Amino acid sequence: MASIYIHIPFCRKACHYCDFHFSTSLKSKDEMVKAICAEIGLRKNYLGTNEISSLYFGGGTPSLLEIEDIRKIIAAVNLHFRLNPNAEITLEANPDDLIFNKIGEFGESGINRLSIGVQSFQDEVLKLLNRTHGAMQAIHAIKESQKAGFQNLTIDLMYGLPGLTVKTWENNLKQAFELGTPHISAYCLTVEKKTALHHFVANKRISLPGDDITAVQYEILMEMAEQNGFEHYEISNFCKPGMHSRHNSSYWNNEPYLGIGPSAHSYNGDSRQWNIANNAIYMSEIKSGGCWFEKEELLPSDKYNEYLLTRLRTSNGINLAYIRDEFGKARAAGIEMKLAPYITGGLLWHEKENVFLTRKGKLIADKIISDFFN
Ligand code: SF4
Repeated sequence: MASIYIHIPFCRKACHYCDFHFSTSLKSKDEMVKAICAEIGLRKNYLGTNEISSLYFGGGTPSLLEIEDIRKIIAAVNLHFRLNPNAEITLEANPDDLIFNKIGEFGESGINRLSIGVQSFQDEVLKLLNRTHGAMQAIHAIKESQKAGFQNLTIDLMYGLPGLTVKTWENNLKQAFELGTPHISAYCLTVEKKTALHHFVANKRISLPGDDITAVQYEILMEMAEQNGFEHYEISNFCKPGMHSRHNSSYWNNEPYLGIGPSAHSYNGDSRQWNIANNAIYMSEIKSGGCWFEKEELLPSDKYNEYLLTRLRTSNGINLAYIRDEFGKARAAGIEMKLAPYITGGLLWHEKENVFLTRKGKLIADKIISDFFN
């Protein structure tokens, strides 16, 4: 099994916290769709004979595309790859794009999962983040998507936001669970360099909640998700039974993926490559048959670190027998030797050959994982 990611590098406006690759000028949208379809053909051998179980439109804001653009891209994937007839086909959408007619058209085009960028149900916070939508629009978009027949819906929420108190975070979560989407991704705000938010924080125009408040917000998230029957299957991802994101799970299960479009990353088990994060150069290199990506061969230590990084964040944890077989006895023994203080400190737990993060461990997951890196 394998998956394909399509990066749509356009947004209506720039959210203050965002460092993804996108342009707010939509002038080259048609040319970009052509270049994306061309790249799909040019890279038809990248995934070998693997069947495609997931196709994901991310960005940027893929919901800005016309329905014809989406049809063209799905047709190009069908032409050059073996797309499983039951493949998960996800489209990331901003609430302001989800009007009833368009949602219906998304469904007819083959999209069977919507990922809605809600982020918050508080207008003041959305305004502070420079989002294009308000809270009521987000609620409306979710309800309209449900009415249009989308059962497989996920929403993105953020915590650790400026102005987000513990109480308002609880209210956000309450609202999310009441809306009944079967999947929620919740991310802690990180202040990335070169973003407007970084500038505002540096100039003290905006202040962020402290780590203690952010940790409480994450604990509330875990608690409320459990009470509402959600499985916490990855640090930032929660779902009703059976409603896991197939696409993200394929990354965490070390399956190969092909990334199409500017800035998209690809992985085939032995190497990684990433497309240039510049719309004009990407389109011109695709057109002229030039080179639009960089590539890195993975060393055994890279593969081992990647395994730790992705798997320890999931509810499957890491498996010592697998590490012994794939990466050598010394690495597995190295982990076993280091485990004791993490287990007595209540950060990890160990069952047979598997090692998992505890709730307390999830609060400092990045630190724990890097302690075990090669
Ligand atoms: S809509 Fe998404 S990709 Fe675009 S600026 Fe906002 S967060 Fe970034």
